[in-house]
Amino acid sequence: MRGTIMDYPLTLPGILEHAGRLFGPHEIVSRRPDKSIHRYTYADFYRRARLLAEALTKAGIEPGDRVATLMWNHYAHLEIYFAAPCIGAVIHTLNLRLHPDDIAYIVNHAEDRYLIVDDVLLPLYEQFRDQVDIERVVVVRLDGGDLAEGYEDYEAFLETATGDFDYPAIDEYDACGMCYTSGTTGRPKGVAYSHRAVVVHTLAVAAPDVFDISMKETLLPVVPMFHANAWGLAYVAVMTGAKIVFPGPHLDAENLLGLLADEQVTMTAGVPTVWLALLQALQKEPDRWDLVPGMRLLVGGAACPESLIREFDDLGYTVLHAWGMTEMTPVGTSGIPTPAFADLDEDTQYEIRAKQGRPLPFVDMRVINDDGEAPWDGETMGELQVRGPWIADSYHNPEEPPTSWTNDGWFHTGDVVTIDADGYVKITDRTKDLIKSGGEWISSVDLENALMGHPDVREAAVIAVAHEKWQERPLACVVIEDGKETTAEQLQEFIAERFVKWWVPDAIEFVEEIPHTSTGKFLKTALRERFKDYKLES
Ligand code: AMP
Repeated sequence: MRGTIMDYPLTLPGILEHAGRLFGPHEIVSRRPDKSIHRYTYADFYRRARLLAEALTKAGIEPGDRVATLMWNHYAHLEIYFAAPCIGAVIHTLNLRLHPDDIAYIVNHAEDRYLIVDDVLLPLYEQFRDQVDIERVVVVRLDGGDLAEGYEDYEAFLETATGDFDYPAIDEYDACGMCYTSGTTGRPKGVAYSHRAVVVHTLAVAAPDVFDISMKETLLPVVPMFHANAWGLAYVAVMTGAKIVFPGPHLDAENLLGLLADEQVTMTAGVPTVWLALLQALQKEPDRWDLVPGMRLLVGGAACPESLIREFDDLGYTVLHAWGMTEMTPVGTSGIPTPAFADLDEDTQYEIRAKQGRPLPFVDMRVINDDGEAPWDGETMGELQVRGPWIADSYHNPEEPPTSWTNDGWFHTGDVVTIDADGYVKITDRTKDLIKSGGEWISSVDLENALMGHPDVREAAVIAVAHEKWQERPLACVVIEDGKETTAEQLQEFIAERFVKWWVPDAIEFVEEIPHTSTGKFLKTALRERFKDYKLES
């Protein structure tokens, strides 16, 4: 049938224009590295995002070009989140926690043309500058110091714009953003998001039965804007007009609590490690911070312990558990309680809240094991496969043939789950050989290869062991060559020379042999079983 609805693109200028028209006086607050507060309104944000869009265009950025950011969460990052996509370019957020060599690889692989970087992160950029070919480097001077030669000032860059700017035509399937994620083997993999995916994801995530975000909210995303789009919250905030509070680089409990209280935050979001620290501080000094009663904490990126949900409840704050992936823009589930929830006994309620939540609308899920598709019975385990309008269908220029998608178009999440009759997903294991520490990935395989490059090491297998603060930390199981006497400290130093500090295994266990599967791979399940109660020292 013809004659239905307009062909109107689902693109990010729609969200920016809506915010500019309707949310002018709403606030955006950012904490700078020196802890002073930068405060402006949506009207300022709107004007500056458009100036940046114009300035980027004048500077030669074309549709499809990548503009990289190396930044903490703050107002200028938000400006680029919209400015680059709104001229058809692609914002590529670089993960500042990675090793400089890995960042260089990612910049080159993505073919980033320009970089916008925080002044406080220039020392990091300078560690990989010689390995990349960035045309222009624009610096946000959060600390206000002088600029060295070769760098441009962000504010001066904005001043090249006149305010006379029109959005170019953008196809909703064009890329608007990019983010790299760790691969189990080989190099990091790039995920490119389309405007359509981001817009539809934004609409879905804000919905009452997903994260329930509206203009009444004051939102503080601790989750970095360089990791999986800050779970889409920057876009959700701007679409709804929520007041935004950006924490900058200070993510410790004391600083976060101060900001949560000062700005009367109603909803915050981050990985469990952040909230474990916050909980301890609050339990120690419950009356010190004047937080909004009932403040919501969105927890994801790693499994949220049930105890965390209970203990925050005791203090009067509500944990909402969710699950997602970089490849999913990133949100896949939300744990918002159903109406039937109130009739359940308390223990059952907590058990359910510690699950990863129920699928969002349009996120199709199936659980596959050796017997085929598993029933949603809360017991039968299998690999979770997903598909939907904000789920990647490939990696950007993959180096190897993609193995993450089934022939019939489902994405392999690498998470092992059960789904119950009500649709609650529970992650029970992971097929991907990676360790998630404090919300960021460590590659077991990279560590193993490096360790096995040590002349005294015959074999090395790295597994995750539970850690109170970081959730998971790497433990290396090492077989030493006959007659050699290398110590754990020497191996740790060897690793520290090659990787960022937080990748160094917390402990090295010297073992007689590493169990192998019939095909010669490490039998990690046996090692994980053997070391399941392993106590790390710190
Ligand atoms: P990333 O792409 O870095 O966001 O990582 C996505 C992966 O993190 C998922 O495939 C899971 O393995 C893990 N993950 C994310 N959220 C949760 C959660 N709520 N509980 C357990 N694991 C999670």
